[in-house]
Amino acid sequence: MKQLQTPFFRIREKDLLYDITLLKGALQENWGNYRIGYSIKTNSLPWLITYLKEQDFCAEVVSKTEYDLVTRLGFSEKEIIYNGPIKDRKVFEDILLGGGLINMDSNYELDWMEELSALYPNRRFRIGLRVNCDIATLCPEETLASEEGGRFGYCYENGVLQAAIRRMNALPNVCVAGLHLHSSTQSRTVQVFGALAKMAVKIAQEYHLSLDYVDMGGGYFGGRDDKPDYRDYFKEICRELSVYFDPQRTFLIAEPGVSLISRATTFETSVIDIKDIRGRKFVVTDGSRTNLNPLVTRHVYPHHLEYASHISNRKREHSQWICGATCMEYDRLFEIKEDVALAPGDRIIYDTAGGYTMCLNPLFINYLPAVYVEHTDGSLFTAREAWTNDEYLQKNYTETK
Ligand SMILES: *Cc1c(COP(=O)(O)O)cnc(C)c1O
Repeated sequence: MKQLQTPFFRIREKDLLYDITLLKGALQENWGNYRIGYSIKTNSLPWLITYLKEQDFCAEVVSKTEYDLVTRLGFSEKEIIYNGPIKDRKVFEDILLGGGLINMDSNYELDWMEELSALYPNRRFRIGLRVNCDIATLCPEETLASEEGGRFGYCYENGVLQAAIRRMNALPNVCVAGLHLHSSTQSRTVQVFGALAKMAVKIAQEYHLSLDYVDMGGGYFGGRDDKPDYRDYFKEICRELSVYFDPQRTFLIAEPGVSLISRATTFETSVIDIKDIRGRKFVVTDGSRTNLNPLVTRHVYPHHLEYASHISNRKREHSQWICGATCMEYDRLFEIKEDVALAPGDRIIYDTAGGYTMCLNPLFINYLPAVYVEHTDGSLFTAREAWTNDEYLQKNYTETK
């Protein structure tokens, strides 16, 4: 097979199917009555969204743009979960009237619901609320996304959540029918999900809610053998939920993102040059840190190497710094210590590269890399061609005298 021009992303269907099956199995076995809303923001590649639709996934969207995208890709309102603090009034109404799920997050949405309740007195609306609770107190040993605590949803501790529930349930044709508890702890531990499920029970009991659904959000580990997987999370979540909820009455929602797409995706790059600068070896590659970690926060890049030639007669190097393709000094990915010297043509293949990468890429110096799908039979499908100036110049206007 002809070598593909690097850099590019590769999605292996076999591994993707593995994680899809693992997730469905865990939900089926532990709860039975479930819905999966794939987190579009994590990787909005149209091929992937379409593939997951065929696997009966709903789309979890957090913007008008994402809503428009999934609608164009064939999702009906019933197959959409609308989340996030920045909602669009028209999209909110369309999804509400079309039978999709809305997890409210902001103050203005409560006003909208009041307006819509009056506007459609003959309709009955069942809505969800995103819960903000103090995970640091529930799980003191956790690493939280932010020291100040999460900023999404309605705060439980200070009564804001209760007030929102009261306000919605006071409307004649509106009912709080769902709780959303997406967490963003960095530790992604099973205990956090257990604590959140327990919180759902506590809130439902305290405020006498009869829920259609509990939405546990995303934030799971996936694709890593050294970490918990869906089976561990949903066993614990469902153990807590079953204290109060009945699977016959209340369905469970999972909103996986990175956990679903990690194992299946690699980012493949080539060594272009080796530079020797005052005793240091810099390995110049055609991929960039901006392709893998646009936020430049990571220091660990799981990877493997494919050598272009025999390594038996290559010398060893004390230190080699793998550098990216941009002209920025910070574009250095990782250091290889006491190992075989790399040479032009070698490949550096980054593993678990599917989440928050291929669609969270800056159009900086180079544009979006190609994405290829490797089908279970080994054949390759071009899911996205590399962006060129054909795409970059779209809707740009220049002026000449
Ligand atoms: C980002 C997000 C997800 C997915 O999170 P992962 O960590 O990628 O699993 C799910 N639900 C909501 C509301 C989100 O904001």
